[in-house]
Amino acid sequence: MQEASKKEAKLIGLAMIGGLIIGLGLHLTGNSEVAGYLKPLGTIFIRLLKMVIIPLVFSSIFMAMFHLGTPEALGSMGRKAVGYYFVTTAFAVLLGLIFVNLISPGTGVELGTPSIAGLSEVMQSKVSENQGLYKTIVGVIVNAIPKNPFEAMATSSVLQVIVFSILFGIVALYMPKQSKPVVSFMESLEAMTLKLTHGIMKFAPVGIFVLMMEIMAKTGFSAVISLSKYMATVIIGLGCHAIFLMIIAAWRLKKSPMYILRGLSAPLLTAFSTSSSAATLPITMASVEENLGVRKDTAKFVLPLGATINMDGTALYESVAAIFIAQVYGIHLDLGQQVIIFMTASLAAIGAAAIPGAGLITMSIVLGAVGLPIEGIGLILAVDRILDMFRTTVNVFGDCVGTIVVDSMMDKEEFSGDAGKPVIAD
Ligand code: ASP
Repeated sequence: MQEASKKEAKLIGLAMIGGLIIGLGLHLTGNSEVAGYLKPLGTIFIRLLKMVIIPLVFSSIFMAMFHLGTPEALGSMGRKAVGYYFVTTAFAVLLGLIFVNLISPGTGVELGTPSIAGLSEVMQSKVSENQGLYKTIVGVIVNAIPKNPFEAMATSSVLQVIVFSILFGIVALYMPKQSKPVVSFMESLEAMTLKLTHGIMKFAPVGIFVLMMEIMAKTGFSAVISLSKYMATVIIGLGCHAIFLMIIAAWRLKKSPMYILRGLSAPLLTAFSTSSSAATLPITMASVEENLGVRKDTAKFVLPLGATINMDGTALYESVAAIFIAQVYGIHLDLGQQVIIFMTASLAAIGAAAIPGAGLITMSIVLGAVGLPIEGIGLILAVDRILDMFRTTVNVFGDCVGTIVVDSMMDKEEFSGDAGKPVIAD
């Protein structure tokens, strides 16, 4: 890793700790509104990141397809990626179920009458209209196909843009002569958006400092105390899963955990402070491509897909939250119902958008599947923002490790078009 990246990692780490301490200080001294004055800087940081997502995803996936050289290579990579997503997500949910049953954070807890009134109106209606698992999953698949690629770009529908870029990239392989101008345009677009991402990353310490300060100034510790056992269960589960992922990463990459952590510090801390895998994506892509030594084409394909459908942290969180709610209500869930939670939490995480609070919305699917009251969400609302930070960090880490695993499983021959020459004749 380059010296500059190490410096950047240190600076971002310091910014996070500084924001945390100052934010907490403002909260304790009753000066929370001071953080509000600086809030626009955090918002600017998130907007800048969002600004590059679509051009970056569009051009990188297209170029990755083109470099892969054959639709078979794409199929092989896709199968490996999806296989990894399923196995690790299922493992995460299992960990969550084990910890929540062992620690039993909701048993004997009195938390008053819960309601979902604390949710924004949009969220309230989404939670209440809970479409059920089948409709949600089918909805994800059907909605992944864009009606209009430009509309998909304009509305930042990342999954739709991914699908269009994959198809467009494959078509380019079949007609190398005609696609030449488009390919060179995409090449420039990719290089330019990556450069822009680097520029935005220079602003990351400021953005992360302000975001952390604002969250701490607003939240403080009061809500945390009454729900501390529940929070500890989620965080211990997420921590164990992160260790499991780190062992896999160190084994497949043959590098030390320290090396991996340093290389990924920018995306992990950005995920922590923004609670959005999507907003973090440009930084994740730049860091994985440049700091971990995996093939760029693997990263370009696996990361955007992972950011939208692979959410280990969210899946783990949903299983813990559902059982916690059942424990508070004094509802006993038998093994069969816990198996249903295992399946629905895994799938609900796929359906969750890569934005703050999305996991809370898909929670209604898990609760509905085993007949738990949706108002139970009200019980965990107060600490959701904080837990979102932890689960989003694990979501992003899971995507990065997925890239390492898939890359290590791809044979050299599968990158037959690595030099940028498609193997399919015109
Ligand atoms: N905020 C999470 C993410 O962007 C999704 C969630 O709410 O769990 O990855």
